[in-house]
Formats: sequence, C-alpha cells, structure tokens
Amino acid sequence: MNDLTVDPACATADANGARPCPVCGGTESAPLDKWSKVPWQNVRCSGCGMVFLRNPPPPELLKSELDWDVLKNHERARRRAARGAGYYLVSDGIKRVRAFARGFVTKKEYRYIQRYAEGPRILDVGCGGGHILAGMPGPIVPFGIEPSPGMQQQADASFRARGGFCIHNIAHLGLRELPEEVKFDFILMRSFLEHDVMAEETLLSCHAKLAPQGKVLIKVPNFACWSARLRGAGWPGIRCPDHVNYFTPDSLAGLLQRCGFSRTWIPLVWRLPTSDNLWALAYR
Ligand SMILES: [Zn+2]
Repeated sequence: MNDLTVDPACATADANGARPCPVCGGTESAPLDKWSKVPWQNVRCSGCGMVFLRNPPPPELLKSELDWDVLKNHERARRRAARGAGYYLVSDGIKRVRAFARGFVTKKEYRYIQRYAEGPRILDVGCGGGHILAGMPGPIVPFGIEPSPGMQQQADASFRARGGFCIHNIAHLGLRELPEEVKFDFILMRSFLEHDVMAEETLLSCHAKLAPQGKVLIKVPNFACWSARLRGAGWPGIRCPDHVNYFTPDSLAGLLQRCGFSRTWIPLVWRLPTSDNLWALAYR
C-alpha cells in the first residue's frame, strides 16, 4: 500500500483505530484471517457475530472517481499479479456470460418492484448509471443517489425524463439532502449495502423517507452461504476493500430491526445456502 495515499486505518475508526460493529455498535471483535486479504482485515463482532471490514478506506473517496479508481486499479493489479493468465481466460468468459445474464436479472427486480411497491415513487440507492429504473416499464417516478459523478449525471438525465432525479452524494448524506416533503413508496438497495460504511445511518434515513406503506428491498452477498464457508477469502463475495459489511439473513434482519423497520421478510428461496446472494424485504 506504500504507493497509495489511502491510509487503511480509516476515517471511520474510533479512538482505538477500530471501526465499530455496523449492526450492534460493539467495539470488541476477533480477526477472521481466513476471509481477509492483507492489509484489509475482516473481523467478527464479539457481541453479535456480524462480520465486517475493520479498516475501510474513507467514504469520501467514493465521491471522487479518480481517487476511487486509483484504489480499485491498485487492488485489481494486485489480484492479477497473484493469479495466472489462464485464470483470466476463464474469468473473462464468465464476465461475458454474466453481462448477457444481466438482462434477466433486471427483470427480476422489475417483478419484485411491481409486486411489492404500493405507489410510483421508487428510490434506487447506489443506482450507478440508473439502468434498472430508467428502463423499467410502467408509470414509475425514478429517483437515485449515486456517489460517482459520471454515473450520477447519466442517471439524473434519464430519471428527469420520467419526473424524478438523481442526487450526487454518499447514500446517508444524499438522503438528508432530500426535501422534507419527498417520501418514497419503495426503496431499492441492490448490491449496495455491503459497500456502505454508514449502513445504519443510511437505513435510519431510508426509514424516515418512506411513505406509510413503504418498503425497502435489499440484495447483498450472503456470508452464510456454503461457498463462503468453503472458499474463505477466495469466495467472490469477499471484495477488499469494496465490501465492508458481510451480512447473513440474521444480521441483516437484526440491523433492520434496530433501524426501526416493523418487519423483515426473508423467505427461504431468498436465502438459500447454495446461492451467493440474499434478498430481504423490510416494511416501514
Ligand atoms: Zn455487533
């Protein structure tokens, strides 16, 4: 890490240099070397068992494409150096298949939104370029929050064409920027909460911005899946330092309850131990 200006002892650390547990706020934790990649240290909370990155980079980095890219490229180069060329022949092929499959994945989000949203105002937190809501059929008004300036502009342009907009900020700060009277019928957090150092603040603000019948749909990597147990740091869900929270169905439900949600619904098909991912629907 010597060629980077990023100090892994992060800005979100407490006085002792440790990031507190994002679920219970506890400061005691044990290192999980099997699921860590030096210098990034994943730990398990001694209080509630939540697994999280103890030393994430400062969240402000996310708002600058340049700084974040420097960090990501550094990690990518390190991973490439650690693997052979054959790995990338296979890996690039898998990426092409995944890009093709993305169209079907998006339709899954549409199905869930159509089934559970009780109004047209949909917020996508960490919306990227806005591709999910921009192309969604039906009378929706799309909103977004996105820290990457280039992607925020792209999302904002397409959301404004349908009556919404996209804010350029880190999630919990963007939620606070919204006018008091703006409430949402549905909030989507797809592949977002695992990145959010301020997950509790973000969920508290989401709860406050929901209409009375509002719900939040969350998709995160499932740390309780079999592949995570077997593969350790080689599990694709372990992405250092992009991923800072490693949820299980129980820890996600615990955090949602702590943030004021009245009910969390995670049916068995949304938390299969054979799937790398986990879905949850939280009711205001
Ligand atoms: Zn904890």
